[in-house]
Parts: sequence; C-alpha cells; structure tokens
Amino acid sequence: MEMILRERQRNPHRCPECSASFEVAYFDDRKDERAALPEVLAEVACPRCGRSRSVALPSGAERTLEVEIDEIGEPDEGAGD
Ligand SMILES: [Zn+2]
Repeated sequence: MEMILRERQRNPHRCPECSASFEVAYFDDRKDERAALPEVLAEVACPRCGRSRSVALPSGAERTLEVEIDEIGEPDEGAGD
C-alpha cells in the first residue's frame, strides 16, 4: 500500500494583459529529491481576461493545475452579513 502525500503549491502570477493577480495552484507529488524531473510548461489562462501564458511547473503537476484569482483588491460584494 502506497500513501501519496500531496503538497499544495501556489505560485503567484500577474497577468501582463489586465494586471489581474492570480495564483497557480497545483499538487507537487515529488517528495523525493531523487525523483526530480525537468519542469514542464503549462498554458494557464488568466481568470479575468482569458489571456494565456506559459508557466513552469514540476513534471506531472500540470495535471492538477488550478487557477485561482487573487481577490485581494477586488471590490467586495456588500457588507458580507
Ligand atoms: Zn488578464
């Protein structure tokens, strides 16, 4: 039985097109340094304007890729009751 501990990584990015801040989150399964593999380039689309850019990720991490917009600085919806 094999237990894989998945570690969540987050890389902050800023869209060159619309200046939106967003995070590229992924799971890095490489717990063993000996398993270090070349990084791969994945296409990430800006969550705001859709412009895609290439980001470097650990090999395999592109399968768990998620893009999360950084809400800091975004206008809040009301008082949040
Ligand atoms: Zn953008």
